[in-house]
Order: sequence, then structure tokens, then C-alpha cells
Amino acid sequence: MPLEEYKRKRNFSKTPEPEGSVASRKGRELFFCVQKHLASHLHYDFRLEHNGVLLSWAVPKGPSLDPKTKRLAMQTEDHPFDYGEFEGVIPEGYGAGIVMLWDRGTWTPEVADVDAALKKGDLKFTLDGYKLKGSWVLVRTGGRYAGARGGSDQRSWLLIKHKDDWSGDLDITEFAPLSVKSEGDFEDILAADNPAIWQTNRPAKGGDAGTMLGTIIERAAKLKAERASAGAAAPKAARGSRKTKATPAKKTGVKKKTG
Ligand code: MN
Repeated sequence: MPLEEYKRKRNFSKTPEPEGSVASRKGRELFFCVQKHLASHLHYDFRLEHNGVLLSWAVPKGPSLDPKTKRLAMQTEDHPFDYGEFEGVIPEGYGAGIVMLWDRGTWTPEVADVDAALKKGDLKFTLDGYKLKGSWVLVRTGGRYAGARGGSDQRSWLLIKHKDDWSGDLDITEFAPLSVKSEGDFEDILAADNPAIWQTNRPAKGGDAGTMLGTIIERAAKLKAERASAGAAAPKAARGSRKTKATPAKKTGVKKKTG
């Protein structure tokens, strides 16, 4: 049954995530998105629409535009199509943390049969997003991340950029860290919700993610207080030039490669 695992993992009375269903989108371009997710660890959820759901991979380090940099991508449960526009705060339970819509757009398979490519573990495709463009491949790896079962972990893939006009050594996650939906950072998303939500039980307690979350909670609380004291007087103006906006990849100086 489609989306069974997605639904089993979540309590929809406690999460703002969409319950969703299999979408019927015949004749439309295929959607893709990347959601930057600060949970127990920071990662990027890479999602490709296929058969009315979003095939999903968690990429700990995020996508790289450098063809030499292969990024681990752990396949996770299919998500409902409606999840693709989700951005917000998951207060508790599975995936508790902050979700930012980091990139979105359309994708085109470079293979005739997507199911066969997935089965084979070699899916080539083209992305047309704000930040990610051009040709990419997802390749399933064998054995390297094998679990206790001994065999190869079927969930383990690599996300790799092919060399083209859109490849280069620009660090896209550093260069364009913000939301393509709200144009804000994690603290803006949290400030719009409830910065005090994890006072007692934070989703990330230690390490880099814990430190990051601590800073974000502080900044979000400050932002919220500033907005409250500014009252109804143009609350959005205060956000103005605090950070640069997310910029499409084509404006980032990624050089066209020849040869
Ligand atoms: Mn995630």
C-alpha cells in the first residue's frame, strides 16, 4: 500500500505535516524538491515525484555541484506529493525539528523506464530547480554501509552531479542556504511558529546539530520578541536585508565548462 510507512511513522494529530495521498497528475511535469531538515542531525531530503508520490533520499551533506564529490543518499519512505511544498516546525515525534523548502522545480528522467532504473540502482535525470540544475545520477551502492543483516543495504545510494553547464566547485549549500518558499532561514521559520516549543526536550541535544539548534532557538525568540514589540508596524520590514536571498544557480557564476 502506498505511503503506508509514511503514515505509520507519524501521528497527524501532533504534526503539521500533510497526511496526503497518492496524487493524480497525469500530463504534468514531474516535481522535485529538496527540504533542508534540522532534526537530530542536519540533512537534506531529496525528493523526486514518481507515480503520484515523492521518492525520498536523506542526504546528510546535501547535494554537491562538483562531479567528483559523491554524496551519500539514504533512501527513506515515499512521501505524499503534498509534502513537496511543506515548510515548518515539527514539534515532536518522528522528524521533530525544522523543515525548510531549500529548492524546488521539475525533473526529467534521462531513462525510458524509471522503475527499471530504480530496480537496477542507476537513475539518471535532469533537474530544473532554482539552485540545482542539469544532469545528475543516483547510484545504489552495495555493502559499504551494510547493516547487521550482513547483506548490502538496499537503501544506500550516492547522489552525483554530472559534468555539464551547471556543475562547478561552488558550494551551493553554503552559497544559497535559505528557503525558496519564504526566503528565510531556520530561525525565521521557527519565529513564525513557537520558538519556545523545545524548552524541555530538544530534538537535537548534542554535537553540531544541537549547537545549531540552540543558536536558532535563541535567534528565533529574539526575532519573535522584536516583531511583537514592533506591533503591526510592517513586521516584514525588519527582515529586509538581514541575509541575502536564495539565488538561482544561474546567477551564481557557475562557469560554463568546455571540453
Ligand atoms: Mn528528513
